[in-house]
Amino acid sequence: MTTGFDTLPLSPATLDNLRRLGYEAMTAIQAASLPASLQGRDVIAQAKTGSGKTAAFALAALAKLDVRRFAVQALVLCPTRELADQVTTEMRRLARAEDNVKVVTLAGGVPLRGQTTSLERGAHVVVGTPGRVIDHLTRGNLNLAGLTTLVLDEADRMLDMGFVDDITQVARQCPPQRQTLLFSATYPEGIAQLAAQFLRDPVTVKVQAQH
Ligand code: ADP
Ligand code: MG
Repeated sequence: MTTGFDTLPLSPATLDNLRRLGYEAMTAIQAASLPASLQGRDVIAQAKTGSGKTAAFALAALAKLDVRRFAVQALVLCPTRELADQVTTEMRRLARAEDNVKVVTLAGGVPLRGQTTSLERGAHVVVGTPGRVIDHLTRGNLNLAGLTTLVLDEADRMLDMGFVDDITQVARQCPPQRQTLLFSATYPEGIAQLAAQFLRDPVTVKVQAQH
């Protein structure tokens, strides 16, 4: 059984854009998580790689953006530069319908300067690796006071890579009333602890095996 995106409270422009991208039906994790995330609930979502987790959190984060407000409103933390680049690409594709959403990638391996310039020009969404995000926070280039959505993507890999302290440091600078979305391919004990620390009254959705 498949469910269309048109069952969700998304704008007509977003629905048009999804059709244009060839996204006809929701994947299982999208169908399971979007009703709660679009209501503003914190969500823990577990589903295997390739199951469409990016669009699941991206549509929730994008739906809430106010592009006239010049502040970073969504922050997506990813374990690696490659994953951050992939998330940025997907978010830009999904955001095309909402005019002028600025998505900036903050990952290591490239000079800070260009990233700082992009932040100065104004970003609505930041996608980055924990270390580089902290670097910009410490230098005063990045302000998270206006944040409404924090996403921990590939949370299991971020744990494996030893990013817990970095995530904690970033989360401390986010407004406490933000929405937090945690996405992961697996659900080891460490994820439950991470969720207990950073999420409020979360809805948990798990999709097993096939999608
Ligand atoms: P995950 O993060 O779970 O590993 P991705 O978000 O990278 O998975 O999605 C895997 C692929 O599926 C991407 O190429 C993405 O564009 C595509 N995709 C996501 N959602 C849909 C959908 N509803 N319909 C068709 N393709 C989709
Ligand atoms: Mg992913």
